[in-house]
Amino acid sequence: MKIAVIGLGHMGAPMAANLVGAGHEVTGFDAAGVTLAGVSPATSAAAAATGAEVVLTMLPDGAILRRVAAEVIPAMTPGAVLLDCSTVDVDSARAVATEAGAAGLLALDAPVSGGVGGASAGTLTFMVGGSEAGFARARPLFEVMGQKAVFCGPSGNGQAAKICNNMILGVTMIATCEAFALADKLGLSRQAMYDVVSTSSGSSWSMTVYCPAPGIGPASPADRGYVPGFSADLMLKDLRLSQQAAELADADTPMGARAADLYRVFVEEEDGRGRDFSAMLPRFERRGRS
Ligand code: NAD
Repeated sequence: MKIAVIGLGHMGAPMAANLVGAGHEVTGFDAAGVTLAGVSPATSAAAAATGAEVVLTMLPDGAILRRVAAEVIPAMTPGAVLLDCSTVDVDSARAVATEAGAAGLLALDAPVSGGVGGASAGTLTFMVGGSEAGFARARPLFEVMGQKAVFCGPSGNGQAAKICNNMILGVTMIATCEAFALADKLGLSRQAMYDVVSTSSGSSWSMTVYCPAPGIGPASPADRGYVPGFSADLMLKDLRLSQQAAELADADTPMGARAADLYRVFVEEEDGRGRDFSAMLPRFERRGRS
């Protein structure tokens, strides 16, 4: 397939590389001038999108997505697929899908889980909103870049799934970290804590796959000095998106709101910026009750 990838950052670059590896003809554009072996460089987003069967965007936020979409939609051929894999607010995803639909395009919001490691290994999970016809067209690409793609319903539902998932992740990571810090103070070894919780009812992905305690459980950013992985900044972004959506939908999300506030303090007032989101554990270690 002829594919344009717009946004060749931490995630977009390895995703584009996997598409090249699978034999697709890939053109790329990044505002920062990033180029990539095997990807034909374009001079603009619109130039990259011209003649592409699929335009994949992997951009920082909804405002940028809206700007890029306004540029690429008029350049795209009717019937082509606009596949946004960025994590953005539900409203931006729906607005872009409406514009794309009016231009005769198939639009999908397909945010991912799995991080840079999953993007490089081609093991991402895609959560997809849009039409079933669009989903069927993009399925071969999901198979190259990921291990699973879940169709979630109409446009915006992929983003809804992503922010709900990451709200759970933010909350469980905080709960796991504060429980480790409490266990330390109660004299329980971290290994015993891990062995019990990872096979008991307090278990979650935050404990079993991404354990925040260095040297315990499977390899994770905690073993590499909390170099991300998934940064606290990105977790804060996703928690804010969940709270913005909750506000608009009139949903009560007290734990999500508390998690958003804790990550805000960690990133904006403490030393969390640029650290992995599991570095909440050393944060709690240093703290007392007040
Ligand atoms: P990144 O900042 O590394 O990459 C974004 C790229 O977009 C940059 O290279 C930037 O130059 C480019 N860009 C910005 N404005 C542009 C424009 N107008 N035209 C073209 N290119 C433009 O970010 P990332 O880590 O690759 O994340 C991308 C998206 O994926 C975000 O929405 C993020 O929330 C989501 N995400 C990231 C991770 C992760 O672990 N990094 C995991 C899941 C989802």
